[in-house]
Amino acid sequence: MVITIDGAAGVGKTSTAKELAKRLGYQYFDTGAMYRAVTFFFINQNVDLTSVSEVNNSLKSIKLHIDFSSESNMRIFLDEDDISLKIRSQEVTSKVSAVSAIKEVREMMVQIQRSFTKKGNFVVEGRDIGTVVFPDAKYKFYLQADYDIRAKRRLADFEKINEAKNINEIKEDLETRDKYDSTRKLSPLKKPVDAIIIDTTLCSFQEQVNQILKHIEK
Ligand code: C5P
Repeated sequence: MVITIDGAAGVGKTSTAKELAKRLGYQYFDTGAMYRAVTFFFINQNVDLTSVSEVNNSLKSIKLHIDFSSESNMRIFLDEDDISLKIRSQEVTSKVSAVSAIKEVREMMVQIQRSFTKKGNFVVEGRDIGTVVFPDAKYKFYLQADYDIRAKRRLADFEKINEAKNINEIKEDLETRDKYDSTRKLSPLKKPVDAIIIDTTLCSFQEQVNQILKHIEK
């Protein structure tokens, strides 16, 4: 069984999906981490994103591995290297939307996402999870929040990992990624027609998790 959680950057998908997975005894699956891992790989390989043959050749040699064994978390490996933290860098963040707009990349990621979730129960977060990857999922949620709140939450996340950022830099990143992710031709970010909207602007973290749980328990 799959529960889908879609929404833009900074709406609270990750913390909510992790807590939900923990409370339900499901596995947490962050599909954004996969697009980030491919971006990290392309940067290291110096891949020209405008060359279909370079992208395809490079994709053939990528060895991604995902470890779901730790409770309500997932780790992502490139070959033997745990890149779960490295994929959060500013360089990856600034390039990931361009990489995730490439058809060949999306096809490969979606295929992996479907095959990993064949066995077991998952809370899957992303941008196209309820619309494209699992259109038949029984429970679909779409998280949204005011722009200022999203930026403030992102700032707090960076402070937690002692990374200095300013709010304008964060706002710029959110704006650029939102635009890119929601206007791209393939699988753009949009609310699945049958998803339940959870507006997290005024909610505490526990409230937003409880709202989702109430819908599932119904
Ligand atoms: O969730 P996160 O912000 O880490 O995602 C990074 C990027 O990966 C997004 O900005 C988007 O471009 C891409 N993505 C996607 N489809 C998904 C998940 C993420 O295109 N299902």
